[in-house]
This record gives sequence, C-alpha cells and structure tokens, in this order.
Amino acid sequence: MAVRAASWAFLGILLTGVAWAAGPPATTPGADSFPVATDVRLGGDEAATRFVMDLSRKIDLRAFTLADPYRVILDIPQVTFQLPAKAGESGRGLIKAFRFGLMMPGGSRLVLDLAKPARIDKAFVVDATVDAPARLVLDLAPTDRESFLRKVALDGKTAGTEPPPRSEPPADSADKRPLVVLDPGHGGIDTGTKGPNGDMEKNIVLDFAGRLRERIEKTGKYRVLMTRTDDTFIPLGERVHIARNAGAALFVSIHADSLPKKEGDAQGATVYTLSETATDSEAARLAEEENRADVIAGVDLKDEPDDVAGILLDLAQRETKTFSVQFAHRLVTELKAATRLHKNPLKSAGFKVLRAPDVPSVLVELGYVSNKDDLQSLLSDAWRDRTAASVAQAIDSYFSTHVAGTRAGAN
Ligand SMILES: [Zn+2]
Repeated sequence: MAVRAASWAFLGILLTGVAWAAGPPATTPGADSFPVATDVRLGGDEAATRFVMDLSRKIDLRAFTLADPYRVILDIPQVTFQLPAKAGESGRGLIKAFRFGLMMPGGSRLVLDLAKPARIDKAFVVDATVDAPARLVLDLAPTDRESFLRKVALDGKTAGTEPPPRSEPPADSADKRPLVVLDPGHGGIDTGTKGPNGDMEKNIVLDFAGRLRERIEKTGKYRVLMTRTDDTFIPLGERVHIARNAGAALFVSIHADSLPKKEGDAQGATVYTLSETATDSEAARLAEEENRADVIAGVDLKDEPDDVAGILLDLAQRETKTFSVQFAHRLVTELKAATRLHKNPLKSAGFKVLRAPDVPSVLVELGYVSNKDDLQSLLSDAWRDRTAASVAQAIDSYFSTHVAGTRAGAN
C-alpha cells in the first residue's frame, strides 16, 4: 500500500511521543519475559486516525477487522500492559474506545471500537531507537460499509480470526459422580463490570468459583470442572460447549452486577434462568450486558459454534428448564441464609451462556459492585467463604432430592 506521507506527517509527533519522560519501563517481577506496553496515544481526526502504543521491545502483529459492530483487532504475543488507568475509555477520530488484555496464554489482544467503517491503512511495529521505545503503529482511514464488509470476508478466508479452542480434559468414564461445571464470567480482555476503585468482576468471580470448587469437591460426591481457572478470555459459546462436551449435570455461571449511576442503587444476589422473554427490563439489560462479552473481546459472532443442531430441542429443553428452575429455587433458599438477596431474587432472561439444551444451567449475580455494601461483601474473604458454602449446599441438596438417579451420569 502506498504511503501517503503528507497526510500522516502531522501525526509524526505521536511517534516521538513522551513515553520515556518517566524513564524506561519498569519490569514486573515474574513477568519479565514478556514485552511491556507502557503508553498509548491517539492522534488525528475522522479523515485519518493514528493509534500508537509504546513497547519495551519489538513484537509481531496481526491486524484485522470485524463487522457489526465495526472493530479493529490487533493480535500480539502476550504483553504486560502497564498503560495509564483510563487508557481506552475514550477515543479520537475513527476510534471510539479500545480494550486490551490477555486472550489466551501467550497471546494478548487489543480491540478498537470504530465510530464508523474504517480501513487499516498501515499496521506495523518499529524498533526502538536511541531516544524512543519500540512502537506499534496503526493508521486508519475512513471507508464505506460495503468495502469494509468485503475486507472482513477476505480476512476471514486467509486466517482463522479466533483463538484455537482449548483442549478439554477427557471425560473420565469410570467416574460416575455427577459433573458440576462452574463458569466464572468474563476474563482476560473482558474485565466484566468494575467497582469505583477498579475492582474487576472477572477477578472477584474467579476467586469465588475457586472457593466454591473446593467446597463441592470436599463432599466427595461430585466432579467439578471450571470453564476457566486463570485470567483468560473464553467465548460464551465455548463455555456452553465445555459443559456439554464434558457431560455436565449442572452448569453454574458466576457473575457480579452493577447498576449505572443514573439508574439509582440496587443490591443483593440474584439467580437467573434462561427464558426468551425477560422477567423485567433490568433482567433484559443485564442479559444484553453479559451477552456483549464476545463483542468486547473481538469474537466474530458468525463463527460461534452451533452446538444445538440436531438435538430434539423441545423435549430436551423442557426437561432441562424444569431442572434449572428447581435448582434456582434451591439456590435462592440457601443464599438467603448467607447473604443479602435482591428484592426479586429469581429472574429469567435470554443469557447466551445458559443456552445448553441438555444441561440444567443457572447464572448467579453475587451482588452489585456499584453498591457500597455489596462491594464490601464481594471483596471479603469471610463473605466469599460463607456464600460459596451456601451455593455448595444448594448443589448438594439439588442432587440429593431432585435428581438422584435420573440426572447423575445421564450424559
Ligand atoms: Zn458478568
């Protein structure tokens, strides 16, 4: 592609930047094998937008676009991000906002939301010089929707745009104990919701799921599998796939909610099951929010695994729904003894992650990070232990009363 030097000249200042003003990037202990991203700058306007990220050393880069919504994805080797706290929250020119984080072990990703269709004019990484760090540079220029979609289709043909599916542990056919799949929400580039001091949903729910796993395993009656055990991103469809593939007898997705300031305050735990029509507008908003995870992480939605094809949907789903609702009731009863509940603690909405037609599934929102008291609970070890114990109790009571012999090992 021809370099239009003149049109980019005014952006040259970005390349020289001020990244070294604070001295060379610090090395994080234990992560010093990874390159470090130290600063990021946006320049230009809607006619030409430049994105620059400073790096401790040169890295490889793969850039491509995704439609609906319009996004640019930058896949890079695993990088330690030490960017300013508000980096990515606002944009400039063709870039509305951007996110960054771990996609899988060894691989990081940046996802740039576009204000309108744009083409990648240039994407490259320059080596460090005497007075400047290595830099990743992305130049964007406006284009029309039709050209944008054509490019997306071309990109899709030349290479898979998705991370490779993770290897799943082989099902242990000798072990007939029911399998409980715990699904800590979000991860990696998708932080989930954030508290006022930056406490992230993805970390809260991962820790909670770990404690819950211990509690369940301690009973000796169940096997437990987690959809993620680290800070990696897992697409929603993949979470469902992991549960179905492993023959789960129960799927519990774990989240924390937050209410936008303008919508007032809410508190307490809520248990959700799947339904096409949401219980109320808050449930609908939440499902929409949680279903955005794949868009946030730059997953091409048309590539979602279609796991439900070929199943006698109606029959399987009706039974599954009954079990899901039974478990949800149990869970609310047990949670009540351990923590504050939302004023309507049992709801349903169209959560993608609850769509397995043959695995009873619920999604629990442990509380609101936007509420002061809830956040204090969510961050407390004692609260996490007590509440995890109540969820484990609900699981045990569900299996021992409702499904002994029918569901166990049925898959
Ligand atoms: Zn969530």
